[in-house]
Amino acid sequence: MLVQLTYASRISKALGSEDIKNILKHSQTNNQADGVTGALCLSSGIFLQILEGDRNTVNRIYHKILQDSRHKDPAILDYREITARQFSEWSMGLITRTDDNKQLFLKYSSDANFDPYSMGAKTLRGFFDEVVDNVRWLRKNPD
Ligand code: FAD
Repeated sequence: MLVQLTYASRISKALGSEDIKNILKHSQTNNQADGVTGALCLSSGIFLQILEGDRNTVNRIYHKILQDSRHKDPAILDYREITARQFSEWSMGLITRTDDNKQLFLKYSSDANFDPYSMGAKTLRGFFDEVVDNVRWLRKNPD
């Protein structure tokens, strides 16, 4: 059974770009081997991650990620069965707030800060739908 799990957590200490690269590198290698896909979003010190794949595998990976001391305050925000993957092209894609997508972050925020903890499942799904559309558009239109 295919599921999608979305959770938020806070960075537990200052993380530099090398730390993020390290997290991403391990995520991509492990997830590819496990057949897990998804995206990791980082904004204002908050991670928002979506993991999709076989239910038992996603649950196992989520529990492994919970043990990681680089983040804290994990909260599952959405968990659902899906019929098809949304992020089939990404073993783990990174989404940060850039000039290209800052309007998108603002669109789904109730104030100037992007706060996934306060977002409902429907809003999160809308956010990720648009993220995927944006990335596909940017890939087709690199300039
Ligand atoms: P190892 O071979 O033991 O590698 C561990 C490596 O991870 C170490 O070399 C070190 O560089 C780094 N590391 C682990 N813990 C820490 C720490 N506390 N401080 C500094 N460096 C550390 N893993 C996935 O497999 N899939 C994911 O989708 C995924 N998403 C993540 C999202 C977030 C927000 C965070 C913080 C971590 C995520 N991880 C993910 C990483 C996961 O928590 C484990 O660190 C990683 O899976 C272990 O990799 P490994 O099996 O290759 O173990």
